[in-house]
Amino acid sequence: MSKLPDVKTSIFSIMSKMAAEYQAINLSQGFPNFPVDEKLTTIMARLSRENVHQYTPMAGYPLLLHQISKLVERSYDRILNPETEILVTAGATQGIFTTIMALVNSGDEVIILDPSYDCYEAPVLLSQATPVRIPLHDDYSPNWERIATACTSKIRMIIITNPHNPTGKILSNKDIESLETILEKHPNIILLSDEVYEYITFEDKHISAHTRKKIRNRCVMISSFGKSFHITGWKIGYVVAPEALMIEIKKVHQFLVFSVNSLSQMAISEYIDIVDLSEIKKRYQAKRDYFKELLISSRFDLLSCEGTYFQVASYAKISQENDVDFCKRLITEFGVAAIPISTFYADGSDLKLIRFCFAKDNNTLKEAALRLCKV
Ligand code: GLN
Repeated sequence: MSKLPDVKTSIFSIMSKMAAEYQAINLSQGFPNFPVDEKLTTIMARLSRENVHQYTPMAGYPLLLHQISKLVERSYDRILNPETEILVTAGATQGIFTTIMALVNSGDEVIILDPSYDCYEAPVLLSQATPVRIPLHDDYSPNWERIATACTSKIRMIIITNPHNPTGKILSNKDIESLETILEKHPNIILLSDEVYEYITFEDKHISAHTRKKIRNRCVMISSFGKSFHITGWKIGYVVAPEALMIEIKKVHQFLVFSVNSLSQMAISEYIDIVDLSEIKKRYQAKRDYFKELLISSRFDLLSCEGTYFQVASYAKISQENDVDFCKRLITEFGVAAIPISTFYADGSDLKLIRFCFAKDNNTLKEAALRLCKV
């Protein structure tokens, strides 16, 4: 009997495979196609000739743990203990999986917002716990009243994604205050704050759980160098958690992967000292605006994008077919791949919305937009 009878192949695998088959421009799965910073590849090339090819310590390469603590201090003015509060993982997804397996018990309930990124439910189900999906408001901000009502003694964890994938919404100060009020009332609930797009926000500032004293001692924070340094294939992310929670998370991590890619960890350690974090935001804001501009004459209506490298668009004026079929036709007839938003909803709600990834060089965006303007 299947342990996950309702889980299907991830939409990211399906769309990227189909994009490759039809040689379409792949704006579906979120990954950059422009070159990685030469400073980083130079470090990587030099290090690869040194004695760096064996296991690192289980929780991460010590220098990287130290550098992550410096990065968090530089970005959020939070002091962490690198030895007890940080874990380097094989990407954010492994950090999320490991955290849920370690902290959620059989019979617990876990609040997952709806729509949500697709990797949260499976580890909840494998923990024999129940996902409780709470719909976002129409503007994609969380419905705190409904979340507060759902917080019974069974709730073990609330998962938030900030900035939000797929909608690009970021949490406001008011949102965070509502979250704080809920957590204060329920001292046993843990917050899982997935902030992998933390450095990709535009007009408004990202408010990280790191900066909130009331939250951070109850929070497992997830981050990703893949997103921040344009290296999704390196699969290096990290988890920050208070020591008591981290002890449990490490118990699972050591038997899931033991430790993660040594060379990547070492290269990132050096790169953290020289990376320009403000460049990430500028680069993606320019790409968001460029892509939007290019699509002005198309029949797509673009929703607002406050953060992430995803642009959600409505095709309601173009077609009434369901979003999965529309995305497939977009590949086969127009040569552009996107992600149907229905796949992020627990019940598959089809709102005629699709997601484009704009983490692409300008020529790719231009060619994709040319094709999209013909739809
Ligand atoms: N995070 C990426 C996205 O939202 C996908 C990663 C994956 O393929 N699992 O597109």
